[in-house]
Amino acid sequence: MGIADNIEKIKKELPSDVKLVAVSKFHPVESIEVALAAGQAVFGENRPQEFEKKALALSGRGIEWHFIGHLQTNKLKMVLPYADLVQSVDSLHLLEAIDKWGKDNGKVIPVLLEMHVAAEETKQGLYEEEILDILFRADSFKNVAFRGLMGMATNTDDEGVVRADFARIKDFFDYVRDLFPEYSGFTELSIGMSGDWRIALESGATIVRIGTAIFGERS
Ligand SMILES: *Cc1c(COP(=O)(O)O)cnc(C)c1O
Repeated sequence: MGIADNIEKIKKELPSDVKLVAVSKFHPVESIEVALAAGQAVFGENRPQEFEKKALALSGRGIEWHFIGHLQTNKLKMVLPYADLVQSVDSLHLLEAIDKWGKDNGKVIPVLLEMHVAAEETKQGLYEEEILDILFRADSFKNVAFRGLMGMATNTDDEGVVRADFARIKDFFDYVRDLFPEYSGFTELSIGMSGDWRIALESGATIVRIGTAIFGERS
């Protein structure tokens, strides 16, 4: 099946209030063009250089760009001018740098805090305590808008493990929203990729990030 068919099929299964981010990393601008023509307007990239190149090549096309990868503080200028949402804030250091960039450039950057949930040691992310520490002083980050949480489940075929990972992040998301009712914009839960997005929907996802199931395997 082609890109347009894949998007149509996924959209049919997605509730209208769940946002589909088409993860176009490693795929050419032409593939994004095909998805755009099929009505997909939200795209995600995970490498700063590639992100900037594509954002510039497709500027003025009405794309909502999400950055979803690890971001080093020396690469902010490749990402922050174009990103409508930075989903992958995985350290206090990065958050402080984004806030400073926002201050220097007169912008408020919408972000998700990436929560460490998966079992793999390599997975990036903030621990629950770190997220709470940040949110308790959210007012001090004047150039950041906290929009919610992002997480990745353990990379496994064991559906029970994936469900447990998603349940943990959803429970924490609910806890945080109860704790900080004044942060009315903290509404997004970005969980679910090609292999587990149906489970993520059952677990309360408001955003799913799907690459392979739309664009095919990455080379
Ligand atoms: C690559 C990537 C995805 C999409 O992965 P697929 O399995 O191809 O759908 C989603 N989220 C993040 C953070 C990614 O890096």
